[in-house]
Amino acid sequence: MDKKGLLIVISGPSGAGKGTVVKEIIKNNDDFSLSVSATTRKPRNYEIDGEHYFFKSRMEFEDLIKEGKMLEYACFCSEYYGTPVDYVLNKLEEGKNVILEIEVQGALQVKEKYPDAVLIFLTPDNIYELKDRLIKRGSETEEKINMRTERAKEEILLVDKYDYIVINRVVKTAACDIVKIVQSEKNKAFRNLSIKETFLRNKGGEF
Ligand code: 5GP
Repeated sequence: MDKKGLLIVISGPSGAGKGTVVKEIIKNNDDFSLSVSATTRKPRNYEIDGEHYFFKSRMEFEDLIKEGKMLEYACFCSEYYGTPVDYVLNKLEEGKNVILEIEVQGALQVKEKYPDAVLIFLTPDNIYELKDRLIKRGSETEEKINMRTERAKEEILLVDKYDYIVINRVVKTAACDIVKIVQSEKNKAFRNLSIKETFLRNKGGEF
C-alpha cells in the first residue's frame, strides 16, 4: 500500500467548528498532522504564535508569497491567510495525513496543484446555527460576525467543488466521519497501483 500520507483539506464557514473537530481528530489519531497557517490577522487572547498560527505583518506575508514559500494563500475578511509549503510536504513524505484547515479559495488552489487532495466541507445545518455559534464564541465584533456570515453565504455556493460534506452536529461524530473518509480514500485503487509491481514479490524473491 502507498506509504505517503494523504493531503486533506477541511473548509467550512467560520463558526462551523472546524478547529474543534480537527483537534478531536489529532488527539485520537497519531497518523494525522495539522498544518499551522500564517496570517496577518491579530491573535485572539488565547492564541500562541507558532501553535495556532504564525502571526505575520503584511510585509512579511507578502515576502513569503514572493519567495514561493506558500502552498496556497487567500484574503479572508481583509486579512491574509496561507499555508507554508515545507511543513506539509515533509509530513506527507513521513506518511502523515496532513490536514489543512482553510477557506474555499485556498482549497481550490490546493485541488488544482494537488488533484489527489481530498476536499471536505464541514458545516452546521444552517446559517442561523452558524451565527449563534459565532456570537457564543465571542471572539469577533458584531461587524466581523456580519462579515463572516455574509462570507458563509458565498462559501456554501462552492460546496459542489468539494469531495465530501460533513454536517457538524456532534463533534465526535463529525471527527469519526472524517477519519472514515480518509481511511476509505487511502484504500482507493488509484492510490495503490504499486501493488501491481509488489504482488509477485516477497522477501525471498520473485514468484
Ligand atoms: P480565523 O480568523 O477564524 O482563524 O480563520 C478565518 C478563516 O481562514 C477560516 O475559514 C479558516 O479556515 C481560514 N484559514 C485559516 N488558515 C488558512 C490558510 O492557511 N489558508 C487559507 N486559504 N485559509 C485559512
